[in-house]
Amino acid sequence: DEVSARGQSLAVHLIDLDRFKDINDSGGHAVGDELLQQATDRIKRLLGTRESIARLGADEFAVLQPLPTRSVGEVRDLGDRIAAALARPFVIGDRTLQSGASIGNSVYAGNGDAGIDLMRAAGVALHHAKLHARGHAIAFDPSMEAERKSRETIEGRLRQALADSQFGLDFQPIFETKTGLLRGFEALLRLADTNGRPIPPAEFIPVAEEVGLIGDIGLWVLREACKVAQQWPERLFVAVNLSAAQFDSGDMAARVQDVLQWSGLRPDRLELEVTESLLITDTDKVLRELQAIKALGPSLALDDFGTGYSSLSYLWRFPVDKLKVDRSFMADVTVNGSRSREILATIVALGRVLNLTVTAEGVETEAQAALLRELDCDLVQGFLFGRPQPAADVAGIILKALGSIELKQPVPVSGKRRSTGAA
Ligand code: C2E
Ligand code: CA
Ligand code: CA
Repeated sequence: DEVSARGQSLAVHLIDLDRFKDINDSGGHAVGDELLQQATDRIKRLLGTRESIARLGADEFAVLQPLPTRSVGEVRDLGDRIAAALARPFVIGDRTLQSGASIGNSVYAGNGDAGIDLMRAAGVALHHAKLHARGHAIAFDPSMEAERKSRETIEGRLRQALADSQFGLDFQPIFETKTGLLRGFEALLRLADTNGRPIPPAEFIPVAEEVGLIGDIGLWVLREACKVAQQWPERLFVAVNLSAAQFDSGDMAARVQDVLQWSGLRPDRLELEVTESLLITDTDKVLRELQAIKALGPSLALDDFGTGYSSLSYLWRFPVDKLKVDRSFMADVTVNGSRSREILATIVALGRVLNLTVTAEGVETEAQAALLRELDCDLVQGFLFGRPQPAADVAGIILKALGSIELKQPVPVSGKRRSTGAA
C-alpha cells in the first residue's frame, strides 16, 4: 500500500452531527443547510494542508488525516478539537442552536491490521460514540466489534420474541414505608436468550431503542401490565417504564388511552415511569404529550432520580407526581455522613416541599429500611421486601398484604375497596 510504503499512516475521522435531524425538522431546510455550512467551516478551520474533508451523507463527514508516523496522540487531538468546535452553539438567523457531534476515528497501522478496513473501523467507533459518548470523539478498539456482534444477536432475539410473544413481565412490590402497606407493583420486562438464560433489560432495552423496536415492545408491556393489574384489588397501582424513544412517534397519549380502554384498568391505577432523558429532548412536544396522558388519569414518576441533571425546572414544568430515587444511592446510604445519605435526605425534603411522593428503590438491608423510615421516605421497593416475580406468583403477596389490612383496620387506603368479589 502506498501510504505504508512511505512509512506513513492514515487516520479517518467519521463525524456525525448529533441533533441535525431535530434541527432540520423543526427549523426547516434553510436552517439545516446553514448549520451544515457552518459545521463544515468549523471543521475546515482545524485542518492543515494535508488533511481533507468529505461529506458522506446528510449530516455525516469524513476527515482524512495523513500521519508521518503512527501517532495516536495527534489523531486523538484532532478528534477532540473537532468535537469541541461542533459542541459550541450555532447562531443561525435569530436562533441559537446546539447540535454537537459524535466522532469515531481509526488509524491505519500500515502493516498487520490489513483485515480491518479503515472506514468500517471508524464507523464502528462512531456507532460506539453515538451510543456511549455522544458529543465526543472515540477511537476504534477491537472490543467494539464484539459489542456490536452481541447487539446484533440481541436484536435478532428481540425480533423473534416479538413475533412469537416470548417476552415475560415480572412484578416487584412497592410498600408504604411507615405502615408496611402494599401499594402497588412495578412491571419489569424479561427476555431470555435462545438457551433460556435471562438477558438483563439494561442490555436489551437500549438495543430495542436503537433499532426502533421499543415502540412495539413498550406497547406489549403496557397492555400486559394493565391486563394483569386489572385483576388485582383496586387500591393497588401498577407502574410501567417508558423509554424516551417511545415518545418519538408522538402518539403515546393515544396509545395509553387505547390500552386503558382495552384493559378496563381504572386510569388512576396506572403509573408511568419516565427518566430525565425524556424531559431534556423536545420539551414542548413532550410536555404536551405528558399533559395529555395525565388528563387521562395516570400518574407520572420520575425514575432514576438523582443520577441525571436533576434540574429543579423539570419538577415544576412537568406534571410529575413521584420521584424514584435511583438505587445507586442505596449502596452506601447507611454509612454515616456519606454523600448518598445527604442526597437522599435532600430528595425526600424536596418531595415534601413540592408535594411529590418519594420512592426509594433497591432497598436490600434492614439498616437501609430503618434509615428510610427515619427520613420519612414515602415508599420503598427492593429485594428486602420482594423481588420481581411473574404475575402468577404475585397473588400470594397480595393475599398476605390483604391479610395485614384486615389486622390493621382501620387504615387509610387510597381509592375505594371493591365491594364485589371479582377483581
Ligand atoms: P428500573 O426502572 O430502575 O427498575 C428497577 C430495577 O432495579 C430492576 O432491574 C429491578 O430488578 C432492580 N431491583 C429492584 N430491587 C432491587 C434491589 O434491592 N437491589 C438491586 N440490586 N436491584 C434491585 P431490572 O429488572 O434488571 O431492570 C433494569 C432496567 O431496565 C429498569 O430499571 C428499567 O430502566 C429497564 N426496564 C425494565 N423493564 C422495562 C420496560 O418494560 N420498559 C422500559 N422502557 N424499560 C424497562
Ligand atoms: Ca423504573
Ligand atoms: Ca429506577
